[in-house]
Amino acid sequence: MNTLDLVAQTTQELVAAGLQLPIMEAFYTIQGEGRFTGHPAYFIRLGGCDVGCVWCDVKESWEAAKWPVLSIEKIVEDALAFPGRLVVITGGEPLMYNMDPLTKLLKEHGFTTNIETSGAHPFSGDFDWVCFSPKKFKKPHPSIFAEADELKVVIYNKSDYEFAEQYAGLVNESCELRLQPEWSKAVKITAEIIDFVKNHPKWNISLQTHKFMDIP
Ligand code: SF4
Repeated sequence: MNTLDLVAQTTQELVAAGLQLPIMEAFYTIQGEGRFTGHPAYFIRLGGCDVGCVWCDVKESWEAAKWPVLSIEKIVEDALAFPGRLVVITGGEPLMYNMDPLTKLLKEHGFTTNIETSGAHPFSGDFDWVCFSPKKFKKPHPSIFAEADELKVVIYNKSDYEFAEQYAGLVNESCELRLQPEWSKAVKITAEIIDFVKNHPKWNISLQTHKFMDIP
């Protein structure tokens, strides 16, 4: 084995342990959707997703190998450069990776840790808020149901209401329930979602307000 192979093997092992992670982008902005709408937050977008949503707006995230692999120390150091102490880990699908080391280090530095996940992989990490957004394209792993603080279902067509109700029956009782219009269909389907929520008041509406504000 030559030196380059050894480095690649070591990187793979460190990624498998969650000590290094592929980072597509990281940026400080305002959380636009869900429970923390309006809060300043540092987003860490991990590369890699095997869920395959047809309407995905970050398809470039799917291939993990495209993105630089950073140590968790460097990831946290970059987050500390901004005044906010709320971190949102998203993707891609962040639960493809072991989130224990990164969330532990973030908490040691005083961050509140949130995750946005499809739940398609076993749950890991120490999170203050878990936003579970199941997708029809890959079944969630059952470990997510007890962890979810918020169930956020993207509404793209009429069959998504039944899908949303199905998952509402699987998450824990205190989980907040939200429906969110898929952005490209929002103009057409928002009125229908309003009617649904008025008739099924356990649900709230989540809007992608960052898109209205034209921020990432
Ligand atoms: S889970 Fe998220 S990143 Fe993955 S395909 Fe679906 S929308 Fe895209």
